[in-house]
Amino acid sequence: MTHPVPIPSAGGDTTLAARSQRAVWHPCTRLRPDAAANEPPLAIASGDGPWLIDTDGKRYFDAISSWWVNLFGHANPSINAALVQQLQTLEHVMLAGCTHAPAVELAERLSALTQGALGNAFYASDGASAVEIALKMSFHFWRNTGLTAKREFVCLRHGYHGETVGALAVTDVEIFRDAYDPLTRRAHVVMSPDARQARADESAADVAARALGELEALLRERAGQIAALIVEPLVQGAAGMAMYDPSYLEGARALCDRYRVHLIADEIAVGCGRTGTFFAWEQARGGAAVPAHAWPDFLCLSKGITGGYLPLSIVLSRPEIQHAFVADDVARSFLHSHSYTGNPLACRAALATLDLFESDHVLARNAERARWLGDAMAGIAADPRVTHVRQRGMIWAADIDAAAAGADFAARFHLAARERGVLVRPIGHTLYVMPPYVFDAALANWLGEQLRDTLHAVLAHPHPHPQQEARHAA
Ligand SMILES: *Cc1c(COP(=O)(O)O)cnc(C)c1O
Repeated sequence: MTHPVPIPSAGGDTTLAARSQRAVWHPCTRLRPDAAANEPPLAIASGDGPWLIDTDGKRYFDAISSWWVNLFGHANPSINAALVQQLQTLEHVMLAGCTHAPAVELAERLSALTQGALGNAFYASDGASAVEIALKMSFHFWRNTGLTAKREFVCLRHGYHGETVGALAVTDVEIFRDAYDPLTRRAHVVMSPDARQARADESAADVAARALGELEALLRERAGQIAALIVEPLVQGAAGMAMYDPSYLEGARALCDRYRVHLIADEIAVGCGRTGTFFAWEQARGGAAVPAHAWPDFLCLSKGITGGYLPLSIVLSRPEIQHAFVADDVARSFLHSHSYTGNPLACRAALATLDLFESDHVLARNAERARWLGDAMAGIAADPRVTHVRQRGMIWAADIDAAAAGADFAARFHLAARERGVLVRPIGHTLYVMPPYVFDAALANWLGEQLRDTLHAVLAHPHPHPQQEARHAA
């Protein structure tokens, strides 16, 4: 071994942020050799509704819901109360050979939200593990059905499905994937329906039709080897909030039916009301009710399902999926498990989250909040350096002209917004907000003003492009 390299951070500094830099290996963060280049993490002491409060008492509006997980604010009184009660009843028990009320009730309620089209709730802890479960189940289903050649997957250009080795295989975001390419079984990547690709005479629906054409060409060729297509319905989050026409979903469902390929809907980010409906898939038919046969074969949920409190993920599937696993033969069984599968505290937080959706009529009230959000961003939308302004429910995004943005736009915007009391992390040149569902018109307007001022300040001092910036730099 060579000499250990000291971790670059301010040596004698005893602030929480500096101690964190020495003791914690932070996710999705570069460790630069120049200590001064390593921005200390924001040390958060507490949370209060949409606000995060740092160790100096400064408040930040959590405009991206703490990486898209928080729904009803931090330290939400009703989720807190439900968790305290669960904590005093049962903190955890294994879910193989045992069961408990929170896991059963949550499974029943999620199935009911699909009108029974999906069920068989399979629990895990993180989004990536839910994706791995769906991939394994799909492959294993075909094997149990005698179609052992079906072992390939299809994903969309710039799709993101998590960062474990299996999930990376269906993830097309270079900065997360490229280093590990030798470890993964790369999926087929087909055209994304991202509406920003529209040519002069094309609508978003035309782009979706073009993308479906490419998908069909692949399926016609290789459906015998393909187990499943995986998509992020309506919004490709990590691609930079790429939004697309809902007709793609119905079209993809029809193609998957025709060519006998499973469809996996990754609703880890877009589920739980972010796009306006509880499941994004509910918009697949342009607002008309989705009949049972038109749901995906698998639907993955995580992130917001616990209100942003605890790690929990769930894979729902169609009834016929589970039928293929009914056998005495152990090799035909789905023996996958995680130690914390179906943790009662996490399930209880999810039940409290579903309770809030019902008691507070959240989806109906979010329609109004979505309007406030769009109106509040009008000042940014009107800026000539801003293009592709888009919104789907509670997700608003726009692209900043690359030349105007300059180098390191995302990092510079993040820091400048922090000064103004807003926590945001642009993706490349895409500025987006995805706030928790706890703001009124006045707070939305305040947010819009802070972001507009931040944008003006950041664009007034652009950094020249030293080299080409990674498109998806987080
Ligand atoms: C965040 C995310 C994942 C991965 O979830 P983790 O809990 O971070 O593993 C997968 N798919 C999508 C669409 C996501 O946004």
